Amino acid sequence: MTRIEILGVPVDAVTEPQALEWAVQALANGRPRQVATVNPEFVMRARRDPEFAAALRRADLCLPDGAGLLWAARRQQQSLPSRIAGVDFVRALARAGATRGWRFFLLGAEPGVAEAAGLALCREYPGLQVAGTLAGSPDVAMDPVTVGAVRGSRADILLVAYGAPAQDLWIARNLPATGARLAIGVGGALDFIAGRTRRAPRWMQDRGLEWLHRLAQQPWRWRRMLALPHFVMRVMVERRPSRT
Ligand code: UDP
Repeated sequence: MTRIEILGVPVDAVTEPQALEWAVQALANGRPRQVATVNPEFVMRARRDPEFAAALRRADLCLPDGAGLLWAARRQQQSLPSRIAGVDFVRALARAGATRGWRFFLLGAEPGVAEAAGLALCREYPGLQVAGTLAGSPDVAMDPVTVGAVRGSRADILLVAYGAPAQDLWIARNLPATGARLAIGVGGALDFIAGRTRRAPRWMQDRGLEWLHRLAQQPWRWRRMLALPHFVMRVMVERRPSRT
C-alpha cells in the first residue's frame, strides 16, 4: 500500500476493494487498528493541531475521503486512485460483515441516530450483527463509561461519529481498551445512514461537488468549510513534497 502525504498529512492510495481487503486481514489477526477518513478539512485542522496531526500519523489506514485530496495529489505528480467516502466504506464493511459475523458498535451522533442507523444497516444487510449503539460523548470524562459499553458488547468493529478531530482522538485514546479490532472515525455517516441528512446526488459526487451539497443543506458549516479555499491556496503554493 502506498502512503502519500498531502501538506504533511498521510493519505493511503487505495481503492475501496483494497481497503476492504485490508480490513478483512486486520480483523483476522493481531492488534487493534485505527482508520481515519481524511478530507481537506482534516488536513487544514491537522496543520494547527499537533495532537490531531499525531493521531493521523499513527492511524493504520487513512482513506482519501475528499475530491480535493485527489486534485492535490495530482498537483504533486502523485496519485490517489479514487475517493472513498466514509459512508460508502461503512456500507462496504457492513455488506462484508453480514456474512462474516463481524459485530458492529455504532458510537456517537445525536441521541437516537446511532440506533436508527443500526436498524437501517440491518435492513440493508440482513444478518448484520449490531452489538450495540450509544450516542455517548467525546468528553474525556465520559471515556470510562463509553469504553465499558463497547467492551461489554464484544464488538469487532467500532464506528465513531463525533466529527473530526474528536472522533479520531477518541479512538487514539481508547481503542486498545475497547476490545474492538477495528475502529473508524466516520463523521456524519450515521446521519446519512439513519436518513437524517441526504447525500449529494450521484452527478455531484462524481464531479467532486459533495461539499457544495453539504453546504447547501447545512449552511452553518460555512465557517468550517473556509478550510476548503485555504486548502486549495496552500496546495497551490506548496512545493512538491517527498513520498513516504
Ligand atoms: N457529534 C456528536 N457529538 C459531538 C459533536 C458531533 O455526536 O460532540 C456528531 C454529530 O451529531 C454528527 C457527527 O458527530 O453525527 C459528525 O459530525 P459532522 O457531520 O460535523 O462530521 P464531518 O462528517 O464533517 O466530519
